Amino acid sequence: MRREVKNIAIIGAGFSGLYASILLAKAGHRVTVFEKNDRIGGRARVYQEKGFTFDMGPSWYWMPELIDQLFEEIGENRSEYFKLIRLNPSYRVFWEDDFSDIPADRDELVALFEGYEQGGGEKLKRFLNDAKSKYEIAIPEYLEKPGLKLNEVVNFKVLKESFKLDVFKSVDKDVRNRFSSPKSIGLLNFPVLFLGEMPSRIPSLYTLMNYADMGLGTWYPEGGMGKLPEALHKVAQKFGVEFKLNASVDAFNCEAGEIQTISVNGKNLTFDAVVASADYNFVEQNLVPKKFRRYSSQYWDTRSLAPSSLIFYLGIDKKLENLEHHNLFFDEDLVAHGKEIYENPNWPKRPLFYTCMPSKTDRTVAPEGMENIFILIPIAPNIEDTEELREKYFNIVMNRLEERTGQKIRDHIIYKRSYCIEDFKNDYNAYKGNAYGLANTLKQTANLKPKITSKLDNLFYCGQLTVPGPGVPPALMSGKLVANHLIESYEGII
Ligand SMILES: Cc1cc2nc3c(=O)[nH]c(=O)nc-3n(C[C@H](O)[C@H](O)[C@H](O)COP(=O)(O)OP(=O)(O)OC[C@H]3O[C@@H](n4cnc5c(N)ncnc54)[C@H](O)[C@@H]3O)c2cc1C
Repeated sequence: MRREVKNIAIIGAGFSGLYASILLAKAGHRVTVFEKNDRIGGRARVYQEKGFTFDMGPSWYWMPELIDQLFEEIGENRSEYFKLIRLNPSYRVFWEDDFSDIPADRDELVALFEGYEQGGGEKLKRFLNDAKSKYEIAIPEYLEKPGLKLNEVVNFKVLKESFKLDVFKSVDKDVRNRFSSPKSIGLLNFPVLFLGEMPSRIPSLYTLMNYADMGLGTWYPEGGMGKLPEALHKVAQKFGVEFKLNASVDAFNCEAGEIQTISVNGKNLTFDAVVASADYNFVEQNLVPKKFRRYSSQYWDTRSLAPSSLIFYLGIDKKLENLEHHNLFFDEDLVAHGKEIYENPNWPKRPLFYTCMPSKTDRTVAPEGMENIFILIPIAPNIEDTEELREKYFNIVMNRLEERTGQKIRDHIIYKRSYCIEDFKNDYNAYKGNAYGLANTLKQTANLKPKITSKLDNLFYCGQLTVPGPGVPPALMSGKLVANHLIESYEGII
């Protein structure tokens, strides 16, 4: 039986919860967001210390048009909330002996690939054209479908275009069939590394990420990535969404196939429906009574997770040379590190790492004459996490950073914080301390992801462990998918 929902609880104030809250409130529902932490943003939280402003999670702003479109769908103009800057170079890649700056300009990019191998420029043009076609077909087919019915993915259009989507060929195979230089191969394999599998196991469909990277560009919101959750928070408040911070949802009290009350910091509250944007596994395995769980603990244990991360947030009391806004240290073997994440989960012997220095672009994120840096090593989820291990890896990356950029950095650190698996678990209830949710393997794509609906009539899920997957634009889309599902079902459309 359908009824009109008046009172909806959302668990979690990350991107998916924020966007869902806006759509539901805009449709006339009364929405309350419960967030266990003391601020909004989820994995994209921001904190200030000693004059530095640190974005805790995402730093790559990709697919700006898609995000602008999501603002338009809620009747807002993104540019009224923050300004976007296109980074040029998009990023710097440190190879074993030298480095490449990846230019924003297409002709310069083509020339760079021509320098890597004869004919590389033309090969890149063809590769990016194919990646663009995949992007254009797949974004509406996979990002915008709730994953509830088979005919969402097996439809005429997808079948007709399936040869272009390259679902059964791997990214690595596709790239290696076309390019021979290790630099071209490394660069084109890079964006999928964060999707949670070796490029040899991710369907070539995901070379659409190369189009997002090299075709659509890398952008930065003036003031930091935190401007995006801040803007969504403002919009949500404008629509009357109520936010409860330091409010942990600890239990669901269920009867007659529905959640009757949710327990928030030990107090029982009644809602017509609950949208869980918190880590799906945590909600399902801890808050939902056993008989109403759709998935078993064994199901969860056999899912492939995207990597976790060891992160350092550093404040440096001088200006640094030879670093761009985004810097990838690909000066070690990418395949060897990948195996230590996905095949034999262990701390990497020779890690690749990433350094973000937003103070290169944005003077507001560090005091005058100083730098703000964020270092990230992708690691396997759920491996041992101790202070000693963090410190060991801090020394490894500092040695490489100092050597490759030719300057002393360690002596100039005036603020340092590390963040790793145990923090992901404590702060976000993250399953196995995951950073980016479920891997985007073929077996975990679209309808094969954990469902947005549940065995409880009034419980729904969104966020990076369900459709469409991890990343800022997909997390926003996930909030949209679940909100639209609720709105349509209450209006009797589905
Ligand atoms: C280090 C890092 C770097 C990243 N880099 C990028 C990038 O550069 N570009 C990109 O596009 N994506 C990036 N991502 C991925 C992207 O940030 C995430 O996919 C996205 O933010 C997830 O949003 P979400 O709403 O699904 O979940 P979350 O942001 O995790 O939100 C869920 C919220 O639920 C709350 N919660 C949990 N349990 C409870 C409870 N019991 N009661 C109340 N609240 C609860 C949590 O505190 C959290 O705030 C990165 C992620 C990380 C961690």
